[in-house]
Amino acid sequence: MRIIRTIAEVRDAVREAKRQQKTVGLVPTMGAFHAGHLSLMQEARKRTDLVVVSLFVNPAQFGPNEDLSRYPRDEARDAAMAEEQHVDILFAPEPAEVYPDGFATTIHIAGITDVLDGASRGAHHFDGVATVVAKLFGIVAPDVAYFGQKDAQQVLVVRRLVRDLNIDVRIEAVPTVREPDGLAMSSRNIYLDPAARQQAAALNRALEAADAMVEAGERRAAVIEDAARRILDDAGISAEYLELRDADTLQPVTTLTGDGLLAVAAYVGAARLIDNRLLRVSA
Ligand code: AMP
Repeated sequence: MRIIRTIAEVRDAVREAKRQQKTVGLVPTMGAFHAGHLSLMQEARKRTDLVVVSLFVNPAQFGPNEDLSRYPRDEARDAAMAEEQHVDILFAPEPAEVYPDGFATTIHIAGITDVLDGASRGAHHFDGVATVVAKLFGIVAPDVAYFGQKDAQQVLVVRRLVRDLNIDVRIEAVPTVREPDGLAMSSRNIYLDPAARQQAAALNRALEAADAMVEAGERRAAVIEDAARRILDDAGISAEYLELRDADTLQPVTTLTGDGLLAVAAYVGAARLIDNRLLRVSA
């Protein structure tokens, strides 16, 4: 595995691979790898010839009061883990390589970024995501890019970006990898002390309960949300948001007629956690 810091070198490596008719897979990450990241790398490894993993803690997607400075960073550990997954290139640029002096462009995607995490964290968050993902697509020019369903709204934002700007890349969403008690793996789970770690499992329990209700025929969003919220309440968790929305448009729904996305964000101890569940409504 090569660790590459410059855009020019990544471009050279990709150009050479494409000259050899190889397909290119990209896995964008902010590092602090866990089994969720590894699952994306494994998908890419199975389906594409040249696997590029980007490791960049993107300052643009953090707000002034968010955890940019304390975000976990351990490149040596990440590099060893990526190497074990037979990743070809770890692209780990410095911020100045990505955002040189004079950088002046922001991509804003209207609509789907106004709700859920966009409303909670502010417009800068998905502007930062969309801008850096567009740059990574411009730098790596992958055939396929892999994203986690854990960040369901991010997947929708990236799909919209690709469609609206005619970027020639296929987006693959990979299922959320969870701890044995159901907690979604996240780099931020290391902020959880033992008590908070135990509490955090309620997030997935709430989503599972909602799923079971829909399976049993419940279609009223408010009833489903209330039941999920009660499980969080019982665990002493107060959600930043807990909302059932249309799975494609993220518009509010009162009665589920198509697939819904139940999305939750909550501070559990020192960690802001997000999770979601696709609630399928069979036609
Ligand atoms: P991050 O480093 O947190 O920006 O995540 C990089 C990629 O890994 C994103 O596409 C995430 O959605 C994905 N990811 C994060 N956690 C998980 C998980 N538990 N299961 C699957 N994918 C994940």
